[in-house]
Amino acid sequence: MTRRGRTKKMTKNNQRGCETRHPQEDHLPDNAKRRRLDPHPSSGRLLYPDFERPTAQECRDVRDRLMALHGFPQEFEEYRRNADAATHSSEDSGAVQVKSEAGCSDSGGNGVGSSVLDGLVSILLSQNTTDANSRRAFLSLKSAFPTWDDVHAAESKFLENAIRCGGLAHTKAHRIKNILKTLLEKKGKICMEYLRDMPTEKIKTELHQFKGLGPKTVACLLMFHLQKDDFPVDTHVFRITKSIGWIPPSANREKAYLHLNQRIPDNLKFDLNCLFVTHGKHCQRCASGRQPQRAPLGPCPLSGYHAG
Ligand SMILES: [Zn+2]
Repeated sequence: MTRRGRTKKMTKNNQRGCETRHPQEDHLPDNAKRRRLDPHPSSGRLLYPDFERPTAQECRDVRDRLMALHGFPQEFEEYRRNADAATHSSEDSGAVQVKSEAGCSDSGGNGVGSSVLDGLVSILLSQNTTDANSRRAFLSLKSAFPTWDDVHAAESKFLENAIRCGGLAHTKAHRIKNILKTLLEKKGKICMEYLRDMPTEKIKTELHQFKGLGPKTVACLLMFHLQKDDFPVDTHVFRITKSIGWIPPSANREKAYLHLNQRIPDNLKFDLNCLFVTHGKHCQRCASGRQPQRAPLGPCPLSGYHAG
């Protein structure tokens, strides 16, 4: 069953954002370490050829179990609509602007952004902070500097001031500046809409050239803003997939990303990823330290998968 075909049950949770994006209250990527491992192997060779989990059937089963408990998480609904629209014909324009040259201008948006560059910057701003603070930082940035050309031209200290509420202002401002500068140098204009027409592996190769963009940032951009089938591994996804035996015990997060992307069927990646993130916030069993950030919604539906 495709994600389009399923009923969209809403949770009561009104927090938004990808944990990656935001979801991902992770530490900023250790790029030096990550680049030792090719983040996008094109050979098709399996990273762990003898580790045969998860199977496609397990992926479907876990997706169905989590969906039965949570419905499709409201916090990711906006991205799911985009994903649906992206697979529709061009006549099916609707309210969602999936592919438009208008994306090269600036949305002045809400933190999700209608342009690819809006999406990328919102992901960068989400690192190591809450959804609310990263969204506030994005809005503050767009308010102070309405266009990306304005951001590019701004003195770093003013840029840092604009995004300070999202934390790590110096590092994030530096990364944003680098991206804009690289775009202008390589493409002649500050716009990333050209990525929409590229296949996933080429997008990964392309973004690898930008300083400060780690594999998780790229994976989030692919899944949430480019509607590609990719499977970012944030702290919740890593913890839960390890707990249910889907990744080798020795795998770090980067290897988990490669392994899970190889094993999980493309058509299940988006829903499974969103469901793991939301489940990791609600479940007494699966939350970090068994201390859920949000109210538990019932017994863990993955109990049969947990070891011990
Ligand atoms: Zn659970």
